[in-house]
Amino acid sequence: MNPRHRAARRGLLALLLCSALGVQAAPQVLHCGQVFDANSARLLGEHSLVIEDGRIRELRPGRLDAEALGASAIDLAGHTCLPGLIDMHVHLGSETNPAAYSEGFRLNPEDYAYRSVGYARSTLMAGFTTVRDLGGLQTIALRDAINQGRIPGPRIFAAGKSLATTGGHADPRNGVSRELAQSLGWPGPEEGVLSGPYEARRAVRQRYKEGSDVIKLTATGGVLSFARSGDNPQFMEDEIRAIVETARDYGYKVAAHAHGKEGMRRAIVAGVDSIEHGTYMDDEIFQLMRKHGTYYVPTITAGAFVSEKAREAGYYPEIVRPKAARIGALIQGTFGRAQAAGVKIAFGTDAGVFPHGDNAREFELMVEAGMSPANALQSATKNAAELLGEWESLGSLEPGKHADVVAVAGNPLEDVTLLREVQFVMKAGTVVKTP
Ligand SMILES: [Zn+2]
Repeated sequence: MNPRHRAARRGLLALLLCSALGVQAAPQVLHCGQVFDANSARLLGEHSLVIEDGRIRELRPGRLDAEALGASAIDLAGHTCLPGLIDMHVHLGSETNPAAYSEGFRLNPEDYAYRSVGYARSTLMAGFTTVRDLGGLQTIALRDAINQGRIPGPRIFAAGKSLATTGGHADPRNGVSRELAQSLGWPGPEEGVLSGPYEARRAVRQRYKEGSDVIKLTATGGVLSFARSGDNPQFMEDEIRAIVETARDYGYKVAAHAHGKEGMRRAIVAGVDSIEHGTYMDDEIFQLMRKHGTYYVPTITAGAFVSEKAREAGYYPEIVRPKAARIGALIQGTFGRAQAAGVKIAFGTDAGVFPHGDNAREFELMVEAGMSPANALQSATKNAAELLGEWESLGSLEPGKHADVVAVAGNPLEDVTLLREVQFVMKAGTVVKTP
């Protein structure tokens, strides 16, 4: 085990121990070479962060005397401190592999659950201290286990089961033989498959009952589902409206997966909070999103990954391969035009479609498509926290917020690839990774 892994393991042990014992640690001072101000999207010079009881107590210019405060000090000179990164679109319940489609018939929920423990850890170690998980059955239990301090991982805002229409993206019986589907029972609103506004309400209320934090619906076909179209509209407007209205009763935000234009249009006018992927957006859609204040969560990394893998025979089923090749490659261009058109962007990758922990590749793809590194970082901090409805407690290094802090060695505005090698991770005041 190299020293970095040892240090990471010590951090994890401390995290588990402290949360298990409910220990209130002494104040800590982080001496940061520079800090990223998520409000202005600018770098400030040398600052000290005072951390107490899992929260940021102070952010002060210069190098504070930790001893005078009775605090321990962590030296991050030469490093840039940033708010813990936020990925608004992950699937911690699964990860891509060439056997994934047949595994659905062989594995049990507990197999997936054990795997997701590792995915959560890789995500946290990559500097993503908060994620929004948009569809996965194990993720609610994963969230609870992390919150209880049983396993390390990011803060999770979980959708639980995604809502779909019959045969739509996220219908759990897609690609299943009729005999098997009949023996399992055709899925209804309880399993997130619905038809009509009445069932839409039932499906949202079932998510409330199961403990979801956010509602996800699949407004159009999807790339990786076992179905022909990746972009056809799959919900009527009155169904989406019923989902959104019901969701508001429970304080839920609504995220809509969408590739095709008509499905996106219906979702935006029905009032969803974000469009995920958004492949075939055009000027008309950009304008509609600006008018409704809808966020765009691009997931360029997933697009790039699936279009790469589509070239490999056998990686995806043949019904999926042409969709992956066609749709995947378009997302980066769409993102470039959307950000230039002034659409609000929140960082999201669709991790799980590619290996967990590689989330920061998205920054490079965003910059390649024309966004400044500063705005890309803002999309993964301030904008993401706003879309979560958590700006009061996440997304910037301001007093009173959760002490979720990461650091990179150098200036990320000059070299955005530094985000791939996050050197320091603190979540809720507990260090889980040190340089
Ligand atoms: Zn997704």
